[in-house]
Amino acid sequence: MAIKIYNTLSKKKEEFVPIKEGEVGFYLCGPTVYDYFHIGNARAWVVFDVIRRYLEHRGFKVKFIVNMTDVDDKIINRANERGVYPGEIAEEYTKAFFEDCKRLKIKDATYYPKATEHIKEMQDLIALLQEKGYAYELDGDVYFEVGSFSEYGRLSGKKIDDLIAGYRVELDERKKDPLDFALWKSAKKGEISWDSPWGKGRPAWHIECSAMSMKYLGKDFDIHAGAEDLIFPHHENEIAQSKCANDGRFAHYWIHIGFLKINKEKMSKSLGNIYTAREILEEFSPESLRLFYMQKHYKSPIDFSKEGLSDAESAVGRLKRCYIKLNEILDKYTVNDDLTNINNKDVIQNFREEIIEAMDDDFNSAAAIGKVFDLVKLVNEKIEDESSIKNEIHLLKNAKELFDQINMFFDIIPLSYEKLYDSAKLVELLLNIRDELRKKKEYQLADKIRDEIEKLGYIIEDGSTGTRWMKK
Ligand SMILES: [Zn+2]
Repeated sequence: MAIKIYNTLSKKKEEFVPIKEGEVGFYLCGPTVYDYFHIGNARAWVVFDVIRRYLEHRGFKVKFIVNMTDVDDKIINRANERGVYPGEIAEEYTKAFFEDCKRLKIKDATYYPKATEHIKEMQDLIALLQEKGYAYELDGDVYFEVGSFSEYGRLSGKKIDDLIAGYRVELDERKKDPLDFALWKSAKKGEISWDSPWGKGRPAWHIECSAMSMKYLGKDFDIHAGAEDLIFPHHENEIAQSKCANDGRFAHYWIHIGFLKINKEKMSKSLGNIYTAREILEEFSPESLRLFYMQKHYKSPIDFSKEGLSDAESAVGRLKRCYIKLNEILDKYTVNDDLTNINNKDVIQNFREEIIEAMDDDFNSAAAIGKVFDLVKLVNEKIEDESSIKNEIHLLKNAKELFDQINMFFDIIPLSYEKLYDSAKLVELLLNIRDELRKKKEYQLADKIRDEIEKLGYIIEDGSTGTRWMKK
C-alpha cells in the first residue's frame, strides 16, 4: 500500500510518488539560532523526525536537510542587546540546538547547512533572478518582483489583490509593488556583511532555503516541510524564487504542522507563557514529550499543558513496564514452536498492519499510538497469568519485535536509557573491585579488569581525584 500525504499545495491527500524510486529528498526549515527553541518548535523537530524515520522504516533512503539560519535580524538584535558579535550568538544557540535535539532523541539530519556558509550560492541565485527579469536592485537592496510570477499565492491560497489591499501603509515607497520582498539587504553601518555585486550586504531569509535546498536536493525534490506559520510568506516566497530561477517544480509535497497553544492560549512573549524544550525536559522525559506530540495528528492544533504531559509520562511508564516485563519473560522462556499457539502470530500481525496503515495514511500517529496502547493492554493480559505464559511465548516474542519496530520511528520506549543505566552500574562496580585490588597490590588482575572494560568501549582515566570513565 502506498503512503498518502496531505499536500498543502494541492490541498488534497495525495499518493506519495517519489521522484526517484526508493529515495526521498526532504527539506525542513530549521532554526534561527538566537535563542533556545520552545516547545512549539520542538513539535516540528519531533514530528518531522518521526516522519523521516517512518519513511526510512518503510524502506526509503531519506536525504534529510535542515538548514541553520545563522544570520538574521533576530540574531543581530540579540547580539546588539548583549554587546557581542552576531557570530557568537549564532554559535552559542547552534550548540544549544544540537544539545536539545539530542535530548529529544532526534536523529541527526543528513546535513545541517548554515546560511553563512552558502552566501555565494545565494548571490548566484539572486543574480540569476535579476538576469531573468524577476528581481530588481534599489540602492544596494535587491527585491523579488511578485507581479512577475503568476502562481504567487497558490500555496497559501491568497490572492495577490487581497494581499495588496492588506498593505495600507507602504514602508518602502521605492519598491515597484508593496508585495515585493527582499532577496538581498544592503548593510547598515557596523552590521555584519558580505561583498556582493550590489555592494556590501547580507542575504534575506527566504533566499537561504531556495539556495540550500537546490544545492543539496536539486531543482526538483520530494518533500518540503515546516510549521504552518511558514506557509506565508516564507514558503510562498521560496516557491516564487525557486520556480522562477529554475524550470523545475521545486518541492512536490508540502507538509505543514499545526499550531501549539499553551493551556488554550496563544504562546507569546507578552503572555509570558513560552516554555523552552530545555526547561520542560528538566521535568519530563523526552519520551513523554515525543508521545505527547504523537498523540495528535501533526496537522491538528495541540494544546500544551503540564497535566497533559504528566498523562503522557504515565503512559510512557506503562509502555516501559510492559516492555521490560516482556523482555524478562523472553529471557526466561525459550520459544518452541511446537508448544506455542502459532495462531497468535496473526494477532500481532494485525496490530502491525493496523499501525502501518495508520501511519501510511498521512502519518496518522494518533491512530497508530492508540493501537500501540491496545497492544500494551493485550500483552499485559497475556502475561498476567504466569501459568499460561509458555503457551503465549510466540505471541509475546512477536509483540516484542513489534515494539522494537515501532520504537525505530516513535522512539517512545526509554530502553536505551535503561540499558545505559544498567551498564553504568556495572562499570562502577568493576572499577570499585579494581580499586580494592590495587590497594592490595594485585596489579595484574587490576589491569586485566581495566583492559576488559576498555574492550567493551569505555575510556578509563586514573587521576588524582580518583578514576573517571566514559563511553568511547
Ligand atoms: Zn525555509
